[in-house]
Amino acid sequence: MAASWSLSGALKSMFARDTIDADTWSDLEDALISADFGPDITDSVIEELRASVAKYKTDDPTDLKRMLRETLEERLARLDPTLTLSARPAVVLVVGVNGVGKTTTIGKFAKFLVGHGRTVVVGAADTFRAAAVEQLATWAERGGASIVRPQQQGQDPASVAFQTVERAQRDSIDIAIIDTAGRLQTKSGLMDELGKIRRVVEKQTEIAEVLLVLDATTGQNGVAQAEAFIQHAGVTGLVITKLDGSAKAGFVLAVQERTGIPIKLVGQGEGINDLTGFTPHVFVQNLVG
Ligand code: GDP
Repeated sequence: MAASWSLSGALKSMFARDTIDADTWSDLEDALISADFGPDITDSVIEELRASVAKYKTDDPTDLKRMLRETLEERLARLDPTLTLSARPAVVLVVGVNGVGKTTTIGKFAKFLVGHGRTVVVGAADTFRAAAVEQLATWAERGGASIVRPQQQGQDPASVAFQTVERAQRDSIDIAIIDTAGRLQTKSGLMDELGKIRRVVEKQTEIAEVLLVLDATTGQNGVAQAEAFIQHAGVTGLVITKLDGSAKAGFVLAVQERTGIPIKLVGQGEGINDLTGFTPHVFVQNLVG
């Protein structure tokens, strides 16, 4: 992972000191707050670490670093990041606000799945913007997926979703990824639209995953955004994008703990291969060093 969001720079001098003292705790607090863990999680992490330091009677900053790694990893690993894609077809709805990286994520995800030997069809159920359909078609092609497009602009998104699932069933395609609109200006309209897509698809087959895409650079605002989707769209997993450019990696723990929904995928760049599963150990290793 790129090091731009790593805490290790900020922590280096702190862990290089001879002993754990009052400055250590305030530097650690600053580092966690600047990385966007949010005040509550920062307080609770520090409280846990103070308890561990007291329990093990250590004043060695190297021990503190190890404890920080363990605490973050244990908290991130409380939820299961496994994608459930065994149904055939496995239907994946992708939801989120425009600009967060939904289209790009779908292309990368298709590539990832095709690379693992699965066949993929993408459904362009954001039918309002012709440019969005074209952009999705380009990314689907790059990812090695076929696409179901609306027959006309503004076609009922639920009917495109229906046709996508139908195509997957007819052609024995393993995974149907359905893109949805993300115009938050019309929040209730958008949530109604997502509800209708879900109802229509659920009559055809079970929905395997509803992935909510969130942009790490929006920080804590992203959590508020997540809540509306979680209430209305039945979200089963989060995809955090733009972690490569963000100094706000603490958002990852904040959003997972506050929503109670596991992070399943992480986007770390604009290229087709820049999407990975979420592995707390690797993430924390990169974050803390
Ligand atoms: P959508 O409106 O949600 O479909 O967003 P797009 O997929 O069009 O992405 C919006 C912008 O974010 C584009 O410029 C993408 O290249 C960029 N983007 C998406 N994912 C990532 C990521 O993981 N890292 C970076 N640096 N940029 C990303």
